[in-house]
Amino acid sequence: MAGGDGRSVVPARLPDDFLGRLVVDCPACGGYAAILPRDPSDVQASAARRMVCRDCGATRDKPQTPNGAPIDPFMGLAPRFRAATRHGDLVAWNEAHLDYLETYLSGRIRVEQRSADPAAPRNQTIVSRLPAWAKSAKNRDEILRAVERVPRERG
Ligand SMILES: [Zn+2]
Repeated sequence: MAGGDGRSVVPARLPDDFLGRLVVDCPACGGYAAILPRDPSDVQASAARRMVCRDCGATRDKPQTPNGAPIDPFMGLAPRFRAATRHGDLVAWNEAHLDYLETYLSGRIRVEQRSADPAAPRNQTIVSRLPAWAKSAKNRDEILRAVERVPRERG
């Protein structure tokens, strides 16, 4: 949460924390579609996934990649939550990811709380992988406005 002192504090999160649900534009109707792994406990990029459109019922399947080779878990579809800025698009994979980014970016002083787990990767967290322009203090107001403009449709 962003506090009154302008600080935002978020727990360190890894991409796997959000890859279990990817919200995209439906390729059939342009509506709200979600891509879920067939096995909820396997969110690796190589996992089998199914897209289901909330608006028109279209489905699309992606089988597991042979040999576990990673491919685009978005199945080539357009992420629905995109914050367009002059520097590029900031993409959120789902509502929780969007909220997480907004909370982090809202602070004038931003704190990512490190995991107490010494085995946790330090350079692969959501925050560490944000592009530099998105984290730049001088871009804060522009980036935050763009994130706030992204329509929040709850699936
Ligand atoms: Zn559809």
